[in-house]
Formats: sequence, C-alpha cells, structure tokens
Amino acid sequence: MDSTKHRFETLAVHAGRAADPHSGAVTPSITLATTFERGADGGYPSGHVYTRAGNPNRDALEAAFAALEGGATALAFGSGQAATAAVLQSLATGDHVILPSDLYHGTRYLVRDVLARWGLAADFVDLRDLDALRAVLRPATRLIWAETPSNPQLRIADLAAIAGVAQKHSALFAVDNTWATPLLQRPLEFGADIVMHSTTKYFGGHSDVLGGALILREAPGGPLAERLRAIQRLSGGVPSPFDCWLLLRSIPTMPARVRLQSESAGRIATFLAAHPRVPVVNYPGLATHPNHDVAARQMSGFGAMLSFEVHGGEAGAMAVAADVKLITRATSLGGVETLIEHRASVEGPDTATPRNLLRLSVGLEHAEDLIDDLRRALGPA
Ligand SMILES: *Cc1c(COP(=O)(O)O)cnc(C)c1O
Repeated sequence: MDSTKHRFETLAVHAGRAADPHSGAVTPSITLATTFERGADGGYPSGHVYTRAGNPNRDALEAAFAALEGGATALAFGSGQAATAAVLQSLATGDHVILPSDLYHGTRYLVRDVLARWGLAADFVDLRDLDALRAVLRPATRLIWAETPSNPQLRIADLAAIAGVAQKHSALFAVDNTWATPLLQRPLEFGADIVMHSTTKYFGGHSDVLGGALILREAPGGPLAERLRAIQRLSGGVPSPFDCWLLLRSIPTMPARVRLQSESAGRIATFLAAHPRVPVVNYPGLATHPNHDVAARQMSGFGAMLSFEVHGGEAGAMAVAADVKLITRATSLGGVETLIEHRASVEGPDTATPRNLLRLSVGLEHAEDLIDDLRRALGPA
C-alpha cells in the first residue's frame, strides 16, 4: 500500500488489509500464537519470535496507523494510557515535560502520581498562551505534550506555533490527537514528532475494544523509534491479536463515521448555543469559539466532541444528564452511540473542570433525534 498515492478513505480501507496470501481470505485472519517456529539455522523465517515483541495482526494494525497519520513508524499499545506511558518512559530522571492545563485527566495523574516518583518534572500551562509556554521552558525541558481539541473544554492549541517553540528548544513535540482523529487533523504535518491516540475511541468506534497508538515522523531504526519499540516490547503493554483485529476491522468505516458524527456535533452545538439554559458551548466549529480561526487552519473538520455548561450549577447539569432518554450516561467517547457525562465528578476532587459542565460524544443517531432528547432534558427555556 503506497500511502503517498491514495486518499484517506482509500488508505483506511486498504492499509494493512491485503488478502491473505495463504488462504486467499479477503479479511485478515487472527494469529493467536504466542510463539513462532525458528529455522534449523536458528533464524526466524516468519520474521516473528514471540507475540509480545510482534505479531502479524499487530504489524498490520501498525501499518494502518502509520499510513493514516502520515508517519514513518507506528506502535500499537493495549490502551491509550500505555502509549502515553511509553512516551513519558522514554524520558530520563531529571527531564522536564510541559503539558496543557486542560487535558485528559489520566495523563495528568500518570505524570503527577506515577512518573513524578521517577524524577520527571512537569508543568501544566494553558498552551493557548505561547508566552506562558515559553515562561516554563527550562534547559531540562525535553518534551512538550499538547492535546487539541482538549478534554473536556475543547481548547485549541496552535500546532505549528508550538512545534516552532519545541524545535527551537530541541524538545520533542507530542500531540494527543484522539479527539480530532487523523481524518480531521494530522499533527505531523504541522511539525509534531509524535502523535498519540487512544484508539479505544474513534479508531475502534464501537465502545468494545481498548487500544493506543504512537505514530512517529522518524523512520524505524532511528533513536526515538528504537527506544519506544524497546519500551513497548519490554514493558509489555501490548494489544492482543484479537484487539488488533477488531481495530483493523473498524478502521475502514472511521472516515465515514467521523464525518457524519462531526456534522451532527456541529448541528447540536448550534442548537445548544441558542438555548437560554446553556451559557457556554465549547465546540471549535462555532464562530464564537475563541480559537475558531486556529482550528479552521489546522483541522479539516471540527470533530464530534463538545461540552457545554448549564445554568443551575452541578445540580442543574446533573438534572439534565438524568433526564436524557436516548443519550446514554457514560464516560468514554468515539462510539456509535451518543454519550453524555458530568465530567468534574469523574475527574476527581482537584479538577478544574466547571461543576456545571456536561460533555457530549456525538454518535451516529440522527442529529434531530439527539437534539429532541437534549431539548426535552434541558426543559422549558
Ligand atoms: C480516552 C483518552 C485517553 C486514554 O486512553 P485509554 O485508551 O482509555 O487508555 C487519552 N487521551 C484522550 C484525549 C482520551 O480521550
């Protein structure tokens, strides 16, 4: 599959999905074996040794990840958190990392509660403010981590501008691209070195498989690629062959799913923005979003995630979540079913997320049915 010749939808269908040369099967088979036969000469004729180090289903999935993000190297992990942990573990004691103040809470806790004990220093800043970013740079800063749009307030970080700061400082620039998906945003094209995905979300798309991915600009064999490959193999946070198979089964429909989900999200955001009980809607596709212009520059669509604040504080938000009938109350995102979540109560007591904020992951139901559900739950204006 020549990923330079084809468009995204075509790559999504074909990357890593050639017909099986042995059986002729049009869809991939699952190779459950944990170990692979050596040749009489001691070699490994299949190219595989042991499934923690590599497996045909994982190879195929990694080929698809690389093609879709336009990277040279891709690594699959058993969850988004395992992928994030691998990036952080590639740093050394005494290194310093800068992360956004609004980001996936698991990333914050991984840095603060796990990696800090290994001597990793960190600052959390509002990455929309480049002066604030520059102010926390230290000689030991090795990594700038962005998440855009961010979870849960959909802040937009200017990828090209941050890449410039990172490059000047010889720091790595990594982007959690989970909420945008590579259909709508490809950070490597804006100068990022590493793209991370929780493939649990839009890649899987059906709320039935956990996974994570790292995609690098660097070719296999380069120092960063080798270090991350060693961490993947040695710490063992790898996906099972069946998980790889499920993800690869879901990727061909990702462009169609994400496009329709994003279109519905735009309609829902417009409805909410006009509702008198909703003082704030966070959706980068709205012209009123403070970074709409940056989003429009670096995204080809605005995604299917949004959050909004409700009058009446936490109780008001909880009451709306309690009253939806079609929409499901649950955490996570990116699946075919629309989910609503009171985010602050999931993130823990020290969260900065507004108590009256609800997060919506827009699924594949008809947008008007979702709007009807929200209109009824919000109650009379
Ligand atoms: C879900 C999520 C993660 C964590 O991924 P898991 O697959 O749950 O480990 C990281 N970043 C973002 C933006 C997410 O939404």
